[in-house]
Amino acid sequence: MRETPEPKGSEVVMRITHCGVCHSDVHLWHGFFDLGAGRKAYLKDRGLAPPLTLGHEPLGVVEAVGPDVKDVRAGDKRVVYPWIGCGTCWACDEGLSTLCAAPRNIGIALPGAFATHLLVPDSRYLVDASGIDDAFAATLACSGTTCYSAIAKISPQLRAADWVAVLGCGGLGLLAIAMLKGMGYDKIVACDVEDGKLEAARAQGAARVVRSDRPDAQQALAEATAGRLAAAIDFVGMPSTFDLPYAVLRKGGTYVLVGLHGGELALPLPPIAQRSIAIIGSFVGTLADLHGVVELARSGKLQAPPIAMKPPGELGDILRALDERRAMGRTVLDFSSVQARI
Ligand SMILES: [Zn+2]
Ligand SMILES: [Zn+2]
Repeated sequence: MRETPEPKGSEVVMRITHCGVCHSDVHLWHGFFDLGAGRKAYLKDRGLAPPLTLGHEPLGVVEAVGPDVKDVRAGDKRVVYPWIGCGTCWACDEGLSTLCAAPRNIGIALPGAFATHLLVPDSRYLVDASGIDDAFAATLACSGTTCYSAIAKISPQLRAADWVAVLGCGGLGLLAIAMLKGMGYDKIVACDVEDGKLEAARAQGAARVVRSDRPDAQQALAEATAGRLAAAIDFVGMPSTFDLPYAVLRKGGTYVLVGLHGGELALPLPPIAQRSIAIIGSFVGTLADLHGVVELARSGKLQAPPIAMKPPGELGDILRALDERRAMGRTVLDFSSVQARI
C-alpha cells in the first residue's frame, strides 16, 4: 500500500478503471529474459529491482492534475501511453521514445497500473479513446501500439499479390490479423501450434492457417502463400518461429521480431544478402502509433480480439495462464469492484 501521489507541474493522477495484462508482464514477473544457451538477462541487472508495480495497459479517469495541465481535467477518461523516454535525447526529440536509451516506461521503470491510482508524468501521454469499448481501449496502450508499429515496418514493401504471415495467435497475433484486415490486407496466413488459436485467427480474418509444428510446415506455408510470402511478424520470438517464415520469405521479404519468448540464432550470412532479406526488431510503439491505432479502432475498422474481464485479485492466476499458454485472446483487469471499496 502506498500513498496516492499529489500531481506537480504537468503530472496527472489517474484513477484506474481497467488495465490489460500482457505477456511481457509474465517475463517481468519471472524477472528475466531468455537469451538462449542457458543465458538470461535479469531485470535486476538493469536497475529494476523488485518490488515493481507492473501494468502497462492503463485506462482510467483523471482524478487530479498538476498546476500546468490545461488539456484534461478531473473526470476525463483516457488511455495512458506507457512507453515514456527520458525526454531530452535525440530519440525523444523525434517522438521515438521507444528508442530512448534511458526509458521510463510505466509499469516497468515507473510504477504501473496494477494499482488503484497511477501517476502520469505529463498530460500529453493521455489519449482520448471515447467511442471504443473500455476494455479494448486499455489494450491499445501496449498490444495495439505494438501491432501498429510492427505493421508499419512491413506495409511499404507489400504488393497486391503478397502474403503476410502472423506467427503466434495469442492476444497480439489476433489483434495484428484484425489490424491488417482493417487496413485492407486480405492475404494473411496465421501460424500457431494450437488448432483453437488458429480457429480464432480465422475468425479475426486470416485467409489461411498453418500448424507450425507440422513436420512439413515450411512446405505448407510456401504452398499457402504461392511463393509470395513478403513479410512475417513473429509474436512468439523463438528459433522455430524465426526458421519457419525465414525459409519461405520471397526475395526482398521482411521478418519482424516482436515476441520475447527467447533463444538464439545461428544463421548463414550470405543468403541474407543474396535474398535481400530484412530482419527487423520492433519493440512496442510510439505515442503517434497509439494515436493512429485509436483512430483506426474508432473508425470501426478494427475488430477486437476476444477479451476476458477479471477482478485484480486474480492477477496471479492470469499470469500463470499466460505463462502456460492457456489464455485465449487478451485479459483485462476490471477495477470497478476495487474502486467501489475505496
Ligand atoms: Zn505489453
Ligand atoms: Zn530519451
